[in-house]
Amino acid sequence: MTLETALRRSDHRVTRPRQLVWDVLHDAERHLSAAEIVDAVHLLDPGVNSSSVYRTLSLFADLELVRESRHGELSTWEPAHDDAVIHLVCDRCGATTHHAADVVDTLRVQLKRSGGFEPRTIDVAVTGLCPTCAKRT
Ligand SMILES: [Zn+2]
Ligand SMILES: [Zn+2]
Repeated sequence: MTLETALRRSDHRVTRPRQLVWDVLHDAERHLSAAEIVDAVHLLDPGVNSSSVYRTLSLFADLELVRESRHGELSTWEPAHDDAVIHLVCDRCGATTHHAADVVDTLRVQLKRSGGFEPRTIDVAVTGLCPTCAKRT
């Protein structure tokens, strides 16, 4: 889906900050903190101010185009994706990566079967040490 298609549904225009935030999120291979998004946008265009980046993130969140993960104090962002991944979160540096896992679908099926509970979102996060931090211990 292009940003234009995504925004047109809700009658929003594509602006330069919106396009840049979108590109940064889609090019990143991991979750980014808001500060990292601001830095990456500034590398592409130093003229975009930080507050428009923050406003864009909250607009995208309202439109469910991005997913925010909170881990304690730290909040990270990524393009919205379906549930079939688990998040691996580093306790030390906060790096968050995806791990594709059948376990999510299995859990969904089991929940429906056992108690008749209808799961909407399943958000599985595993905390620990990322490869970089694990090497440093
Ligand atoms: Zn780490
Ligand atoms: Zn994710």
